[in-house]
Amino acid sequence: MTSQVHISTHPLVQHKITLLRDQRTDPKKFRELLREIAVLVAYEATSDLATEEVTVTTPLGQASGYRLRERVGLVPILRAGLGMVEGIWNMMPNAEVWHIGIFRDEQTLEPVEYYTRLPVSPTVDVCMVLDPMLATGGSAVAAVNILKQWGAGRIKFVGVIAAADGVRRLTSAHPDVPLYLAAVDEQLNEMGYIVPGLGDAGDRLFGTG
Ligand code: URA
Repeated sequence: MTSQVHISTHPLVQHKITLLRDQRTDPKKFRELLREIAVLVAYEATSDLATEEVTVTTPLGQASGYRLRERVGLVPILRAGLGMVEGIWNMMPNAEVWHIGIFRDEQTLEPVEYYTRLPVSPTVDVCMVLDPMLATGGSAVAAVNILKQWGAGRIKFVGVIAAADGVRRLTSAHPDVPLYLAAVDEQLNEMGYIVPGLGDAGDRLFGTG
């Protein structure tokens, strides 16, 4: 793995991802864990956001501090990416949320874009693409292509479990996009699922499995 790929070693992330993978975890708990892991991984992904100095008045005097200078866009890939939005958005309530819908053709395993809604020109400085599962990498590469064509400046990928193949595909297509993940698994099966992974993240999130 190159320095472009950041895999969390935080004990809380490791604890929660183990529960997330467990097939006995029900959709309510799955949603809670995914929200919490997304916050923890996003905490690491936002460590280089630019700040500017400001002064505020406390009840006892003046205090100098900082505020975020960059405008952040959260870009969940539908549908599993939706499970990562709420927690991160709570930490950065001024972030804009833009959705990209991409599904995987079951025969070719290639991405098919079915929904994109972005303003005419970029309104944010940093885009965080959210998708819990980086499997073949096709959807992530397509989402980053869309954002680059739109004119996005800085793009980061924030996920939970990746397959080594997906990491290779995304990093070679977009060497300028850092990846923030909780785990990397070695295998993909013939259906394009990560093994051992956690199954279908969208189904487990929305109770549709
Ligand atoms: N999407 C999922 O939800 N799970 C996988 O294992 C791969 C892609």
